[in-house]
Amino acid sequence: MDRPGRLKELAMTALSRRALTLGLSAAALATGTVPRATRAAGTASAPPAARAVTPLAQVSIGRFTVTALSDGYADMPFSYFPGRTAEQVEQAAKAQFTARPSGIRFLFNQYLVEDGERRILIDAGPAGSLGQSGRLPQALAALGLRRDQIDAVIVTHMHQDHLGGLVAGGQNNFPNAEVYIDRRDVAHWTDPAKRAAAPDYLETSFRLSAEVVRLCPRLQAIDGERQITRGVSILDLTGHTPGHIGVRIEDAGQSLVMVSDMLFPVVHPQATDVAFLFEQDRAAAQAMRARFFPRAAEEGALIAATHMPFPGLGRVLSEGGRLRWAPADWAFQN
Ligand SMILES: [Zn+2]
Repeated sequence: MDRPGRLKELAMTALSRRALTLGLSAAALATGTVPRATRAAGTASAPPAARAVTPLAQVSIGRFTVTALSDGYADMPFSYFPGRTAEQVEQAAKAQFTARPSGIRFLFNQYLVEDGERRILIDAGPAGSLGQSGRLPQALAALGLRRDQIDAVIVTHMHQDHLGGLVAGGQNNFPNAEVYIDRRDVAHWTDPAKRAAAPDYLETSFRLSAEVVRLCPRLQAIDGERQITRGVSILDLTGHTPGHIGVRIEDAGQSLVMVSDMLFPVVHPQATDVAFLFEQDRAAAQAMRARFFPRAAEEGALIAATHMPFPGLGRVLSEGGRLRWAPADWAFQN
């Protein structure tokens, strides 16, 4: 037998053994007809090189089309969740089969809201300042859009993972967009005394906030709950940062609430007394979650959350008083 043939036979033997333990047919494994996730490292056939894909998902809310986009992701260490020990968080992640060696995967989801007249983007992603990110421009391109075709960007708060994309590369990347940010966040993140007193891990957010104020002449510091355009309004979700806001999209009896960092994967909405390291005012964030989660469950509100698994669409369900996240369905095509 020639050498390649021998290798192939060895490979098939290994596959057969593996298939037995997985309850799968060796033929299925060999032809690659099983999902990649079920392949284990060490099988003789090398998995195909991963291709970069551009995830997109859409929902219709009345006259609006809302498209979930993603700038990328970062894995957050289990120790970043005050209120629980790293061990407790890791156990919870394991129980949900989402524990990774590097922690819990946080997506960076953005949402494009279109009504045929205006294109409004909610958040701009970290744009390479954190984790594996910087893919929002590609995601927009997959929709046939350039950043200069966006009419407005609503930034839910001035953490780097939500506003970095506005000014990545030291320029105004959305030159034709009105930029809406809550006034309390603009005040906080441009305050030199707050910057000097802040921990190191917030320095990038302070630096990028200063860039946004310098480079985006159409920045509007907004106050309170107001309408941006008919059917798109701001919700006050203060706590995570002083001016942490959500966006409610509503038309023809349908609605979607983009709640930004009200929910983090693995720990929410099961508990409200778990925070995240970057959180500004933990007591206020906890109080906001304690109010919001049961109300969202009662209303069956369709929610979009930045860091939940793509596309970040779901609902808070109450089952005998216990809350859990239920992913919502979405459309390939409207
Ligand atoms: Zn965030």
